[in-house]
Amino acid sequence: MASIQLKNVVKRFADSEAIHGVNLEIEDGEFTVFVGPSGCGKSTLLRMIAGLETISDGQISIDDRVVNDIAPSKRGIAMVFQSYALYPHMTVADNISYGLKVGGVGKAERRHQAEVVAKTLQLSELLDRKPKQLSGGQRQRVAIGRAIIRNPKVFLFDEPLSNLDAELRVEMRLYIAKLHQELGNTMVYVTHDQVEAMTLADKIVVLQAGSVEQVGSPMDLYYHPKNLFVAGFIGSPKMNFIPAKVTQVTPESVSLLLNGQLAISLHHSKLAVKVDDEVTLGVRPENISQEPQSVKVPFHTEVVERLGNSTYVFGQVCGVDHFKMLLPGDQHFKPYQTIDVYFKEENCLIFNAEGLCVS
Ligand code: ATP
Repeated sequence: MASIQLKNVVKRFADSEAIHGVNLEIEDGEFTVFVGPSGCGKSTLLRMIAGLETISDGQISIDDRVVNDIAPSKRGIAMVFQSYALYPHMTVADNISYGLKVGGVGKAERRHQAEVVAKTLQLSELLDRKPKQLSGGQRQRVAIGRAIIRNPKVFLFDEPLSNLDAELRVEMRLYIAKLHQELGNTMVYVTHDQVEAMTLADKIVVLQAGSVEQVGSPMDLYYHPKNLFVAGFIGSPKMNFIPAKVTQVTPESVSLLLNGQLAISLHHSKLAVKVDDEVTLGVRPENISQEPQSVKVPFHTEVVERLGNSTYVFGQVCGVDHFKMLLPGDQHFKPYQTIDVYFKEENCLIFNAEGLCVS
């Protein structure tokens, strides 16, 4: 197993800087997920750890050894890509054990090791099939098997589930989580899917435009996002935001005028805001309730989605469109009604004009 350190890591391409001085500590055995919107630099960062991309500035170490100038094959890592890149003419067993063949391991031993790995990935029945006779999820498991058999210190995954349909993604996500529990290796995983990030990660690194926005456990990021970007990115469905103005601050509470329309008061102490500050109130769809509480808000319903176990209501609050509410159970709302809902005030977040969370 291995720890990974990134110190002031910069990546410049010919015409632009894609990574702007990233510092990061990845602990031994940790499952770390890089998440962020398209083009934020997730893959570039992963490829630099793998050695598939040069480092323009700074330093990457694996187990306290600087690897900037070490070839990918000598870093003790194995990488699983979005495209499985299996050899079509080889069987599953030969695909899984190809790295051993290149390393000079004999046929019987290769087969034995392929069988051991196949057991972990529930591929035992498929060892003699060719890739075209497999489903997408099975192919991706073969690609993971090819990485496991090399017994790497570190697994790197670059959006490994993107080519799979929704159901298979969930299934493969569980496989990967189990694999980490069984093997305990250090794993670094790139995805733009925040649900994958939340469910797999010990530690999430949220990236935007080549910089780290926040590093923390999934629940850290969910409950204590540092800024508007992280608050809006982590959590599904996404957090609702309402522009607001501070009208009063007392030692125990803050009063806000929401979007120039509705005055509310929150029991929040020691907030770094003052009267007349322009702020943003953030409330997650699941933190809006029908049970009477102190912050009452009219919700104009537009679309109601009943899923049986839960109900999504989309509409308008204080003139803000695309507002979302997630209620437990099957709720019978009609579209184009105004209903009273309540924000759970302990879960309301306040962001200052710079977008930093101050609550
Ligand atoms: P996605 O989720 O879309 O895969 P990403 O977060 O993985 O995105 P990267 O692929 O790391 O993003 O790209 C980061 C930035 O670097 C982008 O602006 C991209 O255009 C740029 N970039 C990546 N590779 C190169 C390259 N070889 N030459 C020039 N620019 C590049």
